[in-house]
Amino acid sequence: MLVIELDKENFEYDTQALVKAFFPEEQVEVLLPESRADKRERLSGEVKIRVATGEKQAEVFISPELCGGEASADSSGKNGDLRAAADGGRAGEPGRVGEPGTVGCFRWEPSEGENYKEGFKEFFYRTLSRVTGRQLPWGMLTGIRPTKIAYGMLEEGRGRQEIAEHYCRKYFVSQEKAELATDIAERERRLLAGVHYEEGYSLYIGIPFCPTTCLYCSFTSYPIAGYRKRVDAYLDCLLQEADYVAKQLQGKILDSVYIGGGTPTTLEPEQLDRLLSGLRELFDFGRVREFTVEAGRADSITEEKLKVLYRHGVTRISVNPQTMKQETLELIGRKASVEQVEEAYELARKVGFDNVNMDIILGLPGESQEDVQRTIDRLVELSPDSLTVHSLAVKRASGLSQWIQENGTSMLRNTDETMAIAAEGAERLGMVPYYLYRQKNMSGNFENVGYAREGKLGLYNILIMEEKQTIVALGAGSISKRVYPDGRIERSENVKDVTLYIEKIDEMIERKRELLDGYV
Ligand code: SF4
Repeated sequence: MLVIELDKENFEYDTQALVKAFFPEEQVEVLLPESRADKRERLSGEVKIRVATGEKQAEVFISPELCGGEASADSSGKNGDLRAAADGGRAGEPGRVGEPGTVGCFRWEPSEGENYKEGFKEFFYRTLSRVTGRQLPWGMLTGIRPTKIAYGMLEEGRGRQEIAEHYCRKYFVSQEKAELATDIAERERRLLAGVHYEEGYSLYIGIPFCPTTCLYCSFTSYPIAGYRKRVDAYLDCLLQEADYVAKQLQGKILDSVYIGGGTPTTLEPEQLDRLLSGLRELFDFGRVREFTVEAGRADSITEEKLKVLYRHGVTRISVNPQTMKQETLELIGRKASVEQVEEAYELARKVGFDNVNMDIILGLPGESQEDVQRTIDRLVELSPDSLTVHSLAVKRASGLSQWIQENGTSMLRNTDETMAIAAEGAERLGMVPYYLYRQKNMSGNFENVGYAREGKLGLYNILIMEEKQTIVALGAGSISKRVYPDGRIERSENVKDVTLYIEKIDEMIERKRELLDGYV
């Protein structure tokens, strides 16, 4: 475990994200002055990084076990302004991280008029880079949407070279990642060219039920077995919410529809039929460019359900193996076998779907490079139209977090090599990268990349990433985003709990009314 002691809460996100990026194998915890006493007692002996932020300067103390060769050099008493290259250091306070001769201490002073938060982040990144002797591929970018910068600059008419330089100079992003982000932003712009911004919107519908809960899951999802009796009431409420939105946004153009969750195909064929018929009655699908349904779990897919989806004009579905290694599927709690995944995929083709996505996760427990290669080889044989490659992310609320407490992180390995195997597989399939995002606590500090064949790029995925269009989200745990013409974004959340969602449906609709007020 790696504990950071911070003196101010507003630096928590950036410092934790950067430390996690430099030390991906570590569980990173933050101690703040307002942290609870029991947390302080538990973690204060484990502090390895201490940050003190004053008005005129900031200091970072780093324990020698993190510093490698730099610790002794920096704790030798050399003082200095670390702004340029984090190249100062002095002995710190006795008895804590910062004790003379035991730690590196780095100091930074903001220059006149400099944004303190941004300047500190850069200083902190440079400091970690120096003590570890490493640069990060994404540099000091800690946000989840690194392509947004390139997208914005392209909109301003800036050229590729200027964009790449901006990534590299301002954020220390590698040339390779800067080019990747720019390539993706260019593709996104081409696809979004036909989207209706102010006069249009997209729709998300959440079905928060799954056959079982996957080990790493952090989504709003409940095992269907315990909820069967509430599904019809849930669909009633969804359609009630949909009815309000359809009336409120009459005259607006619906560009894309995405039914996710959870796993929508846990619904029975009749329930799917009722939902899709209801949506088609309420909304004008005449200009919908993409209609996606997540059929994520193979153990929920039947020919009858696929036929219902196809009959209602669903244009894109996802059949997600995550891995084609049977032992891993069992370990992560996905009950479908590899054979079931293959059968579900073949069924989708047989029913007529010509746009099938498959998701995989790299860094799953116990998976070696050879396992990833085998998964990719099998997917290349199946030949989906798009492939979404995730790096395993450890979410606090997931079973994986508990699993790590018991088993450690040594079995979770994602590497440059496995990322390259996936990229090479996508290339063999004739795909290009078209969307990209990062998450907190990702295995190996990599990114999630969506690859697709030309003509099969997922529009909704890009809309979610670039936040250019209003997305109205229905169902438990969903979050609607209203995008204003000036780029401002307002959010409205529905409650996560299914029972509460059903009980409070009037309040959910009221929240929609407030969000969409004046959006006509
Ligand atoms: S299929 Fe997706 S939503 Fe359902 S439990 Fe697994 S990770 Fe969670």
